[in-house]
Amino acid sequence: MASPTRDTPNAGRTARPKQRRGEGQWALGYREPLNPNERSKKDDNPLNVRARIENIYANGGFDSIDPGDLRGRFRWYGLYTQRKPGIDGGRTATLEPEELDDEYFMLRVRLDGGALSTEQLSVLGEISQTYARDTADITDRQNIQYHWIQVEDMPTIWQKLEDAGMTTMEACGDSPRVILGSPVAGISAEEVIDGTPAIDEIKRRFVGDPKFANLPRKFKTAVSGLPDVAHEIHDVAFVGVHHPEHGPGFDVWVGGGLSTNPMIGQRLGAWVPLDEVPDVWEGVISIFRDYGYRRLRSRARIKFLVKDWGAEKFRETLETKYLGRTLIDGPAPEVPAQPLDHVGTHRQHDGNYYVGAAPIAGRVSGSTLLAVAKAAERAGSTRVRLTPQQKLVVLDVPEAELGSLRGELADLGLQTEPSPWRRGVMACTGIEYCKLAIVETKARAHELVADLERRLADIQSGVDAPVSVHLNGCPNSCARIQTADIGLKGQIVTDADGNQVEGFQVHLGGGLGLDAGFGRKLRGHKVTSAELTDYVERVVRNFVEQRADGERFPQ
Ligand code: SF4
Repeated sequence: MASPTRDTPNAGRTARPKQRRGEGQWALGYREPLNPNERSKKDDNPLNVRARIENIYANGGFDSIDPGDLRGRFRWYGLYTQRKPGIDGGRTATLEPEELDDEYFMLRVRLDGGALSTEQLSVLGEISQTYARDTADITDRQNIQYHWIQVEDMPTIWQKLEDAGMTTMEACGDSPRVILGSPVAGISAEEVIDGTPAIDEIKRRFVGDPKFANLPRKFKTAVSGLPDVAHEIHDVAFVGVHHPEHGPGFDVWVGGGLSTNPMIGQRLGAWVPLDEVPDVWEGVISIFRDYGYRRLRSRARIKFLVKDWGAEKFRETLETKYLGRTLIDGPAPEVPAQPLDHVGTHRQHDGNYYVGAAPIAGRVSGSTLLAVAKAAERAGSTRVRLTPQQKLVVLDVPEAELGSLRGELADLGLQTEPSPWRRGVMACTGIEYCKLAIVETKARAHELVADLERRLADIQSGVDAPVSVHLNGCPNSCARIQTADIGLKGQIVTDADGNQVEGFQVHLGGGLGLDAGFGRKLRGHKVTSAELTDYVERVVRNFVEQRADGERFPQ
C-alpha cells in the first residue's frame, strides 16, 4: 500500500505517531503475560513439574495430570503426549488438543554434542526395551527420542538416566535446548578447535538454571570447531575459526532458524576464545530472555529480534549491557564445498579411525543401540556419537578392527558405505506419533530409500555427493526441509482423481555451507505420497544427467 503524500487527502494533518502494540518484551516493562503460554510460565516455574510427576502423577496415572502441566510444563523434562493412533492427517487441525492426546508420551533425552559412552548407549537401549516398546529415534538434534512412555515409569527412567550421567532436563520447552556439537570433536584431523569444554561448561552452569527456564520460546545452540552442525540455522552458534593474531577460537552467529519464517543466522563479526564462549552465550540468551518478543508465539524466536535490530545493534547491546566489554573482531569460518556428515571410515589425528553409519532417517531401536554398544566395545571403542544428520559414529577404532565393526554395523542395518539416498534422507517424527503431523514420514522415508536404491542403481556410481531429501510431517521444519536439495513439507493435496490425500509441497535447491540458502518453494509443485518415489527419481535423474562436474543441486 502506498504511503500518504502531500497530494493525498491526509496531507497537512498532524500525523499522530503510530501506536505500536507492545511485543511483550520484559526489558521494556511488559511483565504481564500476553498469552496463555506466558501465563503458564509465570504462574509456576516449569522446572517445578518434575516434583509433581514424581510425587503425584506417577502414582495417580495419566488422568491425575493437570492439563497445564500435561500440555505445557511437561516439555521442560522432554515429555510430550504422543498422537492417538488412527487419526488421519486431514483432521489434525480440526480437533481439540485433548482429542489428539494419547495416554503415552514421547520422551526426549538430551545428549549435548551427541556424546555417549558405550555404557550410556547400553542404558539407553535397556530403557527402550523395558519402558518404550523398543522404540528409539536418533533426532537431527543429536537426541534420542523414545515413544510409548507411561508417566508411572518416569521416576525409574530418570533414576536410570541420571545414574548413567544423562538427563531429559530442558530437552523441550521454552528453554536452552540440547547443544549441538561436532560428533568428531577432539579427534578430527580437520577441526579448528575442540568445542567440548564450552558445551560442558554451558550445560553445567546454565541448564536447569531457573533464570533461563522462562524464555520467550526455545533456544537452540551449536558449538563446533567444524562447520558440521548446521550453524547457520541456530539461535546462537559458535563456529571454529583461526584468527590471524589470536589463533583458534569461535565466530559468533545469531538469529538463524527455520519453521514457517526461515532465516539464515547473522554473523556478529566477533571472535571469541574457547574459555569465553559460556559468558558470551549467557549474554546472548539473556538478551533473548529480556528483549525477545513474547506477545505472539509465532514471533517469539530470537530470529525476529535479530532481524529487527540487525547484527550491529545486537552486538552493541551484547557488549555494552551484558558483557561490559568489547569483543574482538574476527574472520568468517571456512565452509566446505559439501556438508560434513561423518559417514564412512575416517582417520583420527591419533591414528585410530572413526566409523560413521547411516540408519534410515534416524530410526533405530533399543535393541539396535544395545547391539551397537557391544559391537563398538568388541572393536576396542568406548565412545559413540550421534550426528545432526540422524546418523551414528563409533570413535577410536583401531585399524585392525575396522572390517569386523563395519560388518557388524551393516548386519544391524547401519551401513557405513550407504547409497547417496540412504545417506541423504532425513525425516521428522510425522503422523505415527506427532500431534501436529499431517502425513507419514519415517515409513515413507524407508520406502523411498528402498525404491531409490533399486531404481537408481544404474546412476548411483555417478553421484559423487549425497543428495539430501528431507521429509516433514507438517509446516514446522523439524527435519530442516528448507536446507535440503529436495525438501518435502507434508500437507493434504488433491490427487488426479480429485481425492484429498497425503502429499508434500516441494522445495528445491536448499543447502548449508557454501552458498547457504533456502530451497525454492515451487508454487503449485505438490506431489502425493503415492507418487513420491516417481517424482524424486525424475528430479535426481534430470539433475545427474544435466549437471556440470561437481555442480551442486540447483538453487
Ligand atoms: Fe511433528 Fe511437524 Fe515437527 Fe514433523 S515437522 S515432528 S510433524 S511438528
